[in-house]
Amino acid sequence: MNIILFGPPNAGKGTQAKLLVENRGWVQLSTGDMLRSAIAAGSDLGKRVQAIMDAGELVSDEIVIELIEERLPEAEAAGGAIFDGFPRTVAQAEALDKLLAGRDSKIEKVVHLVVDRAELTKRVEKRAAEQGRADDTVDVFNNRFDVYEKQTAPLIPYYTGQGKVVKVDGMGSVEAVAASIATALDG
Ligand code: AMP
Repeated sequence: MNIILFGPPNAGKGTQAKLLVENRGWVQLSTGDMLRSAIAAGSDLGKRVQAIMDAGELVSDEIVIELIEERLPEAEAAGGAIFDGFPRTVAQAEALDKLLAGRDSKIEKVVHLVVDRAELTKRVEKRAAEQGRADDTVDVFNNRFDVYEKQTAPLIPYYTGQGKVVKVDGMGSVEAVAASIATALDG
């Protein structure tokens, strides 16, 4: 099954994606992780995207679409893809629909993790203290949230039109959210 874990920055997409990998054997396709690996490796791509990511802006659609395309065969072999942090624009969503259609495949569900902004801010303050990622300050979070509302939230009507969106309360414990996601996927 191919699913999208959708939601604002810090909603818990990465944590829940990793649990789905453990429990279902699917592959997590996180463009954020792929881009951070490129930066860590010091590649040309990493150099091109670092300042954009540090500022909490979006890197170009072309870059992330190419990264995703490269990983689709691996996800197919595993029987499922968990898209995490992708797509983030309507253009990316349209490109993903085309790529999957070309492989006789499609997105089955879009799990929308709903978390309010005050809780997201609390999480970023905690994580900034623990991990110190350059794009994990409250200022950058505020920009990431604005970018989410302007560029990514329009995906909700896009996928609602396809009848694929299931809302999940993302405010509870990791375990409670995981249980709600399981119900959303299997129910
Ligand atoms: P994430 O770990 O998903 O929050 O992504 C971290 C950063 O990587 C984002 O703030 C963007 O700068 C960049 N990024 C990740 N995924 C995408 C995407 N699908 N489109 C554009 N930029 C992305």
